[in-house]
Amino acid sequence: MPEAKLNIKLLDKTDNALSIIYSACRQCYSAEFSGNIFENSRREKNTEKISSFVRKVIESGHESPLEHVKFTFAVEGVSRALTHQLVRHRLASYSQQSQRYVKESHFDFIIPPSLRNDRELNSRFLGIMELIQEGYNDLLGLLKTKGIQGEKANQDARFVLPQAAETKIVLTMNCRSLKNFFYHRCCARAQWEICALANAMLDICKKELPEVFGNAGAKCENLGFCPEGQKFTCGKYPPSAGSRREARG
Ligand SMILES: Cc1cc2nc3c(=O)[nH]c(=O)nc-3n(C[C@H](O)[C@H](O)[C@H](O)COP(=O)(O)OP(=O)(O)OC[C@H]3O[C@@H](n4cnc5c(N)ncnc54)[C@H](O)[C@@H]3O)c2cc1C
Repeated sequence: MPEAKLNIKLLDKTDNALSIIYSACRQCYSAEFSGNIFENSRREKNTEKISSFVRKVIESGHESPLEHVKFTFAVEGVSRALTHQLVRHRLASYSQQSQRYVKESHFDFIIPPSLRNDRELNSRFLGIMELIQEGYNDLLGLLKTKGIQGEKANQDARFVLPQAAETKIVLTMNCRSLKNFFYHRCCARAQWEICALANAMLDICKKELPEVFGNAGAKCENLGFCPEGQKFTCGKYPPSAGSRREARG
C-alpha cells in the first residue's frame, strides 16, 4: 500500500488555439466571415497584434470566445476526496477510474501533510489504511463464498474504502471553465490537495496559452484584493472591507 504522488500530463489542447479565440472575438465586431479571419490570422506575421487583441478582449470580461478552446489533462496520484470536489465543476468532461471494474486489493492512498509530517499520526494513519485494506479483502473473500465475484463483489466491497484512496481521472475543460476553476481552487483557502492540482494545471496552461492564462489564478489575482476577509486572508493581497460581498455580487 504505497503512498501515491500527484502526476499530471497534458494530453492535448485545441489546435490553433489563439487563432480560434481571435477569430471568435473578431467575429463579434466584424462584418467579415470568421472563416477568413481565422485563415488570415494563421498567416499573420505580426503575432503580437493577435496576442494583444485577445488579451484586451479577455480583460474586458468578454469571455465566451474562450469556450472554443479546450485542454485535456490526465491526472493520477490524487485522492477520491479531491475528485469529489473536482467533479463539482460542472462545465467539464470527466472519465474516472472505476472502483467497480478495477479491484482495489492493493490500493494506494494519499496522506495529508498534517498526518505525514507527524511520526505518531503518520503511523496511526498507515495502520488505519492497513485495516481498511484487510477489511476490503476479507469482504471480497466472503462475497466469493456466497457466489458473488468480479465487478459485483468490487462494487459492494468498495463501500469500506477511504476517501484517501488514490484515483486516476481524465478531465477536459474549456478555457473559460479553467479560469473559473483556477479562480476558486488556486486560492490558498481552497483545500490543499485540489489547490496543488489547480496550481500545477495553471502552470501548464500559462506555458501553453499565456495570452489567456497570463493573469489567471486565484480570485485575488483577478480582483487585486482578497475577498476572504481579514480573518481568513493569506496576506498575499490586502483584504478589502466588505469585499466578500463586493466580489460575489
Ligand atoms: C473554498 C471552497 C469551498 C467549498 N465548499 C463547499 C461545500 O462546503 N459544500 C458544497 O456543496 N460545495 C462547496 N464548494 C463547491 C462550490 O460551491 C462549487 O460547487 C464548485 O466550486 C464549482 O464551482 P462552479 O459552480 O463555479 O463551477 P461550474 O459548475 O463549472 O460552473 C461554472 C459557472 O457556470 C455557472 N453555472 C453553472 N451551473 C449553473 C447553474 N445551475 N445555475 C446558474 N449558474 C450556473 C456559474 O456561473 C458557475 O460559476 C466549495 C468550493 C470552494 C472553492
